[in-house]
Amino acid sequence: MLPGSMVNPYKPELAVNQIAFLSASHPFWQPSALPRSVLRASQPSENRTGALCRSSVRSTLAGGAPPDICSLGPWAREGAVRIARILIVGAGVVGMGAALLLSRDGHEVTVLERDADAPPADPEESWDSWQRKGVNQFRLPHFFLARYRSLLSTELPELMAALAAAGAVRVNSVLSAPEQLRGPAREEDGAFECLSGRRCVVEAVVASVASRSPRLAIRRGTAVTGLVTGPAAHDGVPHVTGVRLASGEELPADLVVDMTGRRSRLPRWLESIGARAPDEELDDCGFIYYGRHFRSASGDVPPAIGGPLQHLGSISSLTLPADNGTWSVTLITSANDKALRPLHDAGTWERTVRSLPLVAHWLDGEPIDDGVMAIAGIEDRHRSLMVDGAPVATGVVVAGDAWACSNPSVGRGASIGMMQATVLRDTIAATGLKDPWEFACAFHRATAELVEPWFRDTLAADRHRLAEIDALIAGDQYRPPDPAWEASQALASAAFKDPDCLRGFVSVGMVLSREADVLSRPGMLEKVTDLGAGWRDEPIPAPDRDDLLSTVAGG
Ligand SMILES: Cc1cc2nc3c(=O)[nH]c(=O)nc-3n(C[C@H](O)[C@H](O)[C@H](O)COP(=O)(O)OP(=O)(O)OC[C@H]3O[C@@H](n4cnc5c(N)ncnc54)[C@H](O)[C@@H]3O)c2cc1C
Repeated sequence: MLPGSMVNPYKPELAVNQIAFLSASHPFWQPSALPRSVLRASQPSENRTGALCRSSVRSTLAGGAPPDICSLGPWAREGAVRIARILIVGAGVVGMGAALLLSRDGHEVTVLERDADAPPADPEESWDSWQRKGVNQFRLPHFFLARYRSLLSTELPELMAALAAAGAVRVNSVLSAPEQLRGPAREEDGAFECLSGRRCVVEAVVASVASRSPRLAIRRGTAVTGLVTGPAAHDGVPHVTGVRLASGEELPADLVVDMTGRRSRLPRWLESIGARAPDEELDDCGFIYYGRHFRSASGDVPPAIGGPLQHLGSISSLTLPADNGTWSVTLITSANDKALRPLHDAGTWERTVRSLPLVAHWLDGEPIDDGVMAIAGIEDRHRSLMVDGAPVATGVVVAGDAWACSNPSVGRGASIGMMQATVLRDTIAATGLKDPWEFACAFHRATAELVEPWFRDTLAADRHRLAEIDALIAGDQYRPPDPAWEASQALASAAFKDPDCLRGFVSVGMVLSREADVLSRPGMLEKVTDLGAGWRDEPIPAPDRDDLLSTVAGG
């Protein structure tokens, strides 16, 4: 892609267009070579969260436009927070984060989780033996983007300390790029720091911090089977006053939050209380993931060459450092690409990874799983409880993956989910729950304005990527009549040539800024056009389609 002079220590023959975007060899609080100002910018005590904050929610609810970036203004906690009994259904990584945020705001929160096992204290036990049947992707590669890290640093700093103690790593995608590319470190670069650890390890830490938190009860082995209703708050609209458990027990609540993930049964539960059906958009996300985890004897993680997610023709690679000297390697294909289905076989998978020059060195470790973990049939879904401008029920909301989920390879789920969790907390603080109708409308509006656009961006990018793969399989060039997509490809290319473009590109990937906002920065569009317009002519550092097929077929 780019000329350069850096050398890959694993493959010295690969001189560079190669950028160590992610070098995660330093665990959390180790002394670092970063300038003090940059370190300060990423410390939990600083309010450096991105676009979402209490003042954004207030501004949205007051009818104002949501700001792109704002600092967390002081919020009058006393008086603004009305104490409520809140039931969260589902103890996933976002559900637990929401429970922590709400209990910190003074609410009495109970989390109900169908899976019975409590999280083990030891990270290796989490990996080896924690049974989480309720989360399909539990042992699949995860990475927690800068938005998620920033929300944790600001809102739940003790979680950051607990994650550090469990061996999670912090990775800065800008500062780990060579200086010739990123230029001198800038004060704001701390914002690009991400968090990484195996999903089960991160979730175990979140759950164990939650289990020690005041006003937060967790009931595991407790399946919710339906909703309980009381007198309507608004004519003709069922009002939820609690949940029914598989045991038949009923639990009362001022608010029920469905956080049961991608396979939420909420529409059925609503139907059985006579509510209108929610608005559902549902599609197969169209990708298949083939991933494995590794560990090194030294505790080091291979250096990244290029970004963590690389589109290499009709295949993409995802290489993610994780906790305690572990990492993952994933190949992502289109579900339509039947010729690549043999990738679920460990030998075929390894041969194919070895054929990718920027990825092969990530195989230099011991596999810590039993084989290739594949996942397909992942849904793109959006569910709204607001139909024709009216809530289908009051006393219940939907959040996290149960609200919206899409292609996981861009790693946005936890970030977008935690953004929505802060919106939920702030909407309750702003409106209270006394008027369930007003609250339902306010939460819908705040979610639609502050969170949904990030989901829509992801969906649009996925659709393009799938169409691009289809075109490449057919031997065509993908040329959609969509200037926004052209601009995003040009930005990706310009990121390798200019420090401002690099930061703009990374901030989109990290869910810190939306692409349209980056491109509207002064002078950015001109730079991107100058430097990135030739992106189609840049070579792809991977075998061509025929070679890929022959590698997969065993040739
Ligand atoms: C392959 C893959 C890779 C991913 N990689 C990333 C990544 O790198 N970064 C990222 O940010 N996101 C990633 N995601 C998305 C991320 O996993 C989700 O966004 C996240 O898990 C959502 O959390 P949640 O709490 O909303 O739901 P979940 O984590 O799905 O949790 C739902 C919980 O509800 C429980 N439950 C279900 N029904 C009931 C019931 N009736 N009663 C009680 N409990 C119930 C389940 O047991 C489960 O514990 C990935 C997703 C996939 C599929």
